[in-house]
Amino acid sequence: MRFLYPDFRTKALTFSYDDGCCQDRRLTELFRKYGVRATFNLNSAFLGWKGPITHGGFTVPFDRSEPEEICELYRGFEVASHNATHYNMSKHTPETIREELWRDTSALRALTGQAVRGFAYPCGGFNHHSHEFLAEVGIAYARTGLSTFRFDLPQNFYYWCPTCHDRHPDLAELARRFIDGEPEELWLLYVWGHSFELDKNDIDRWENLEGHLRLLSGREDIWYAENIEICDYITACRACIYADGRLHNPTEREIFLTHKGKKYRLAPGETAEF
Ligand SMILES: [Zn+2]
Repeated sequence: MRFLYPDFRTKALTFSYDDGCCQDRRLTELFRKYGVRATFNLNSAFLGWKGPITHGGFTVPFDRSEPEEICELYRGFEVASHNATHYNMSKHTPETIREELWRDTSALRALTGQAVRGFAYPCGGFNHHSHEFLAEVGIAYARTGLSTFRFDLPQNFYYWCPTCHDRHPDLAELARRFIDGEPEELWLLYVWGHSFELDKNDIDRWENLEGHLRLLSGREDIWYAENIEICDYITACRACIYADGRLHNPTEREIFLTHKGKKYRLAPGETAEF
């Protein structure tokens, strides 16, 4: 028996972008054009701040998204937390961590009208207690900045390592391998970055990313999903109970699977015999 993604797909593609800045306007349009889904990780206390950033030797615009545009700008995408003021979770006291998380998730929920259930670690900082604080405020997963260059799913969604950064030179080959492969397990291509980095002028980074989107979009075997959709679906698959040739789906999600060449959809609460 093998679990599949929704609609019996074998591959999923997701994107994750941090810091919520003016380049997200162009990026969300690009993602809409190609029909891909993404998650945007925002610092609510910095919304509306103005100013450039110098990053890796490049100075680029870094005006933060405006609070009043959040709803429209990120419509159709997941809005997730990146701490209210970008605090590094590995370096602060439990009190500060709780305050940062609570402040950010409350503010973003008020702006979007949606529960905030995703997180990206600011500065990639975490320790082995981070998941406890995240769970307290209803966060279901957290993304690290550690690239795996692989397509496998995380064992623990609170320490979810992406495949690679959008500007990494290996992404072209990874994307090609992802398209051409016929996976035995579920595959996930998880690309992360900062939209302000797309303005760096060493190469045309926007065109570079659009090239990847051209290749990866519009494919029937790929599920285009936000981070939280993947987390929720895989968590539901893992909650299914198998015993004595029967598989029970105790969750509220429909589960897709295949067994001996036959496809099964397991409705919420349903039990199938194999
Ligand atoms: Zn950041």
